[in-house]
Amino acid sequence: MSLIQHLQTQLRQGETTSVALVEQYLERIRQREPHIKGYLTVTAETALAQAQEMDARRAQGEDLGWLMGIPMALKDNLCTQGIPTTCASRILQDYIPPYNATVVERLLQAGAVILGKTNLDEFAMGSSTEHSAYQVTANPWDVTRVPGGSSGGSGAVVAAQECVAALGSDTGGSIRLPASFCGVVGLKPTYGRVSRYGLVAYASSLDQIGPLAPTVMDTAIVLQAIAGHDPRDSTSIAAPVPDYAQALTALPPEQPLAGVTLGVIQETLGEGLDPHVRRAFETAVHQLEQLGAQVIPISCPTFATGLAAYYILAPAEASANLARYDGVKYGLRVPAADVVTMYQQTRGQGFGSEVKRRIMLGTYTLSRGYYDAYYLQAQKVRTLIRRDFDQAFTQVQALLSPTAPVPAFPIGSKRNDPLSMYLTDLMTIPVNLAGLPAVSIPCGFTPEGLPIGLQVIGPVLQETRILQIAYAYEQSTPWHRQVPPLVRDG
Ligand code: GLN
Repeated sequence: MSLIQHLQTQLRQGETTSVALVEQYLERIRQREPHIKGYLTVTAETALAQAQEMDARRAQGEDLGWLMGIPMALKDNLCTQGIPTTCASRILQDYIPPYNATVVERLLQAGAVILGKTNLDEFAMGSSTEHSAYQVTANPWDVTRVPGGSSGGSGAVVAAQECVAALGSDTGGSIRLPASFCGVVGLKPTYGRVSRYGLVAYASSLDQIGPLAPTVMDTAIVLQAIAGHDPRDSTSIAAPVPDYAQALTALPPEQPLAGVTLGVIQETLGEGLDPHVRRAFETAVHQLEQLGAQVIPISCPTFATGLAAYYILAPAEASANLARYDGVKYGLRVPAADVVTMYQQTRGQGFGSEVKRRIMLGTYTLSRGYYDAYYLQAQKVRTLIRRDFDQAFTQVQALLSPTAPVPAFPIGSKRNDPLSMYLTDLMTIPVNLAGLPAVSIPCGFTPEGLPIGLQVIGPVLQETRILQIAYAYEQSTPWHRQVPPLVRDG
């Protein structure tokens, strides 16, 4: 049974209450947060009130499903009514949204209890959560290392069991990378599968919201609650939402992957791949074969160009999206004698260095004379990457790669080396450029005890398929049962 299923069963049988669960998680937060710093805001009071309401409604015979009364956390770029939403930026320091993001609304309707808002790289720009204006989150497996980013707070608090599951956002890997570094499951849905209404925009043609959770089943349950069409997000897809959890239990116990062909993306196995990551990945591929899958090598020749294209496109979109923070309507305002100086000072003091770097890069590639050379070119590369994937999916049902070329790196080691930081996203970014769903699941540890992630990529709207593959793998391996030292030692 997954963690959510286990807790929900206890709740249904009256062995615990939502209030008791929330108190237990708040206690863990009190004990572990001084080491982890994964939360920017803990909403203890509203969480307890919500839990009380869920317990009362349960007592009346109401059952809202798996998430009723379950404590969860939200990345702090998801708008929460009446609760600060900072995007880990000074410019939104005191911003309290007047509305909930659609995903938040859906979780609340499903009865989930919100414990708080998690840390991220400022405006989700980064791979380590070091670019937060407020605090650096530590990796629960080794607190001298980063949790990955940009949803590092969500990854860390799930791994440290400071919530049951969390939401993150993924523009170039920001759910999958922290999942991989923190030893949890993280799923980036198909572009449009989950509404982005109320997600503070980074790069709108790439952003997606998705779950981080301890197991594949938990991930499926959370995805179920948040997926589906939303009239408020014109990019959301109107396709019906399958029963993801049900699909997992439908797999045959023997040879669950018989008849499935998987492709290993050759371009992700080149130099630069950490030897421990390579070994864990190869062992995982072998395990998938044991489960009945046929695994073949697949070449996606344009895969390697993804990173360069992404770092043109994402900053270009970001520079446009971030133009709205001008000190006029909301957020920080640094008063000055005239309006132009006010803009300059507000943005100068409100944004951190990585955000400024992105704004400058984006403004540059969108300016006249450079637009054709950079932006348009990158869009063409994007089309080629999509074609590569389309071609691959005529031969295989899903693709495999390590989630990241390296395990969690030491805090500070890449902070001043943007290029090396960007390279962490090599294997996750092409998936966003093509709008595909992908999941990262734990597939082993380095000798130092750092988690390693396996990425399973599927065709558009095939979340069920990648979850099934991930589930079959997970059920036959011990990795998801390991807990970080901090949890083990209480
Ligand atoms: N690390 C990538 C970036 O900095 C991806 C971030 C994300 O997915 N939000 O843009």
